[in-house]
Amino acid sequence: MRVLLVEDEPQIADFLKMSLQAECFAVDVATDGERGSFLARTENYDLVILDNVLPLKHGLEICKDIRTAEKTMPIIMLSVKSDAATKVELLNAGADDYLIKPFSLQELVARMRALLRRPKQMQRETLSIDDLVLNEKTASVRRGNEEIYLTRKEFMLLEYLLSNQGLVLSRGMILEHVWDMEADPFSNTIESHIMSVRRKIHQPGKKKLIHTVPGRGYKIDLL
Ligand code: CA
Repeated sequence: MRVLLVEDEPQIADFLKMSLQAECFAVDVATDGERGSFLARTENYDLVILDNVLPLKHGLEICKDIRTAEKTMPIIMLSVKSDAATKVELLNAGADDYLIKPFSLQELVARMRALLRRPKQMQRETLSIDDLVLNEKTASVRRGNEEIYLTRKEFMLLEYLLSNQGLVLSRGMILEHVWDMEADPFSNTIESHIMSVRRKIHQPGKKKLIHTVPGRGYKIDLL
């Protein structure tokens, strides 16, 4: 998951960047509001963390810029003010959540994870290819009339492949989007999960859907 952090206080920015990297997020930092607004609108972030009081442009305005640009990634605002009017203003500007400074790193990460789980489920309920249907709301998978039982990780892996149908996904991309927390880039965990998902969805007589692209990665495609 790739995150943009817009924070002008260098100590807080450095601390958050390091801490979030340790939590397996890729983090870009902008230290003023103009740069933050530009990056948020032109790059593809999974989530944006916005300090409210910033040089050149305030977080509230950046929030509005992002939503005007029809970007739907979750936004967490950081604010020193905790009154009800400020909170309402932040949420009305398009923020999904806010934290009052000072806050704990654990709380920020927990809220980020909660928001990162949410948007996809709101945008659509099912993903499908051939007669394979994955329902994000009920966390269930069917092939034809048959229910397929996947572990949580297998489900996330299949969900990621299906969200990027026809595209080759490298091990790095899969690690970044599916494995965030406990990822060990040197283990064969991706390979073994791909194998078990294949075994479950490639039933006899059914079309093979998950393909290995030698030297590059994996894709799900009708071919
Ligand atoms: Ca500030």
